[in-house]
Amino acid sequence: MERELKASEIHILVLPYPVQGHLNPMLQFSKRLALKGLRVMLLAAMSISESIPDQAGSVKIQRICDGFDGDGKVDSLVYHERFSVVVPQSLREVVARQNCSNCPFNFLVYDSTLPWALDVAHRLGLDAAPFFTQSAVVSALYYHVHRGTLKMPVEGPTVTVPSMPLLAVSDLPSFIHHMDAYPSILRLVVDQFSNIHDANWTFINTFEQLENEVLSWMRSQWPVKTVGPIIPSMYLDKRLEDDRDYGLSLFKPNLDACQTWLDQKQAASVVYVSFGSLASLGEEQMEEISQGLKRSNAHFIWVVRESEQQKLPTNLVEETTDKGLVVNWCNQLQVLAHQAVGCFLTHCGWNSTLEALSLGVPMAAMPQWTDQTTNSKFIADVWKVGLRVKRDESGIVRGEEIALCIREIMEGERGNEIRKNAHRWKELAKEAVDEGGSSNKNIEEFVAELAEVEGDAS
Ligand code: UDP
Repeated sequence: MERELKASEIHILVLPYPVQGHLNPMLQFSKRLALKGLRVMLLAAMSISESIPDQAGSVKIQRICDGFDGDGKVDSLVYHERFSVVVPQSLREVVARQNCSNCPFNFLVYDSTLPWALDVAHRLGLDAAPFFTQSAVVSALYYHVHRGTLKMPVEGPTVTVPSMPLLAVSDLPSFIHHMDAYPSILRLVVDQFSNIHDANWTFINTFEQLENEVLSWMRSQWPVKTVGPIIPSMYLDKRLEDDRDYGLSLFKPNLDACQTWLDQKQAASVVYVSFGSLASLGEEQMEEISQGLKRSNAHFIWVVRESEQQKLPTNLVEETTDKGLVVNWCNQLQVLAHQAVGCFLTHCGWNSTLEALSLGVPMAAMPQWTDQTTNSKFIADVWKVGLRVKRDESGIVRGEEIALCIREIMEGERGNEIRKNAHRWKELAKEAVDEGGSSNKNIEEFVAELAEVEGDAS
């Protein structure tokens, strides 16, 4: 007899690629599924497992072999290649082990940069769906390259793509507009779409209102469920009590220092500066940022990862003790949510972009590579929640330009407009994930469909 499964009978396996910008949204999505009553297990590669707990909220974390003895450099292509050779076997073992228990897995959610996981899952008798940690626009652009509807090399100066505003070639992801610089990464991002038509579901960390035109177009190509913005609940809908942190930090945050320091500053008087977990800036650029921050006259918190610290201009810390705080890593959400922060000088990583949008913090967009160039175009010209800093002919953003941009946001006419827009997006972001919102509905629909399908199968 047919029956629907209860939510607690559904067991989801989640496979993220182990870099911070992928772990955060995929763990957060896992928590959202757990909130609906599902059991969820997230797989963590051995190379990052030292920094992670066994459990994050109600999500169980299981360590798996990634082909390294805990010392894989997760942001390298060599690591990605080895991961893709070793982890399919780890995945088979985890699924087989669980099959012998009374709660086998029903479904695999995998990082879209690991398209082989769909075939592995199907061979194991599991259905599966990719999770995209980049924007819908960026996903669509890579898909066009995959299909050949965006011909490489792209001829400039502008390019017309269905359901998108006119884009300058330099607005495209760097892997497309500098295709010779990163041929292997270009292949990797385009390969996300190699078997997209075999997937019955796809999840994407964005929300309907933010990218509705391109999402409508995308839905004409394959089934898409928007589930974002995926950030800890206490910063948005507050339905997941105590969920204030992603819970899987690969870096050690300097928690109290930032909070105490910010508590002493006036509202909207601080610039928060971060280039995320991967980008690496040159020494000259670091010098220009220091100059820009000093010239802006604003207070600042600057995240400089330990591996980047040696590039900091000497004396910066001593010269700016009353003005600035340099930390190795922080709880970014906690900082962005603080009323003292009035501007985010950002690399425009997709998570950082969604976090700033969800918290209504105006952005000074300083993209470095990958999808950040495209995100910055939308931040400045489409959502109008920030300004883009300009590079000079040598590709460096000068201190003067940085200071100008910060001042325009924090004190200028355009700053008022930007704050108004930021406030509107904050409301829309909350609406999307709250009860009755588009992203929340999509998650509920997925759970209901899964209960039906799996119930029929059992
Ligand atoms: N982040 C953080 N502390 C920091 C800097 C970044 O917690 O000091 C988090 C940030 O909240 C975001 C993630 O790290 O969730 C970075 O992801 P993003 O997509 O913005 O950039 P990536 O690191 O992938 O370039």
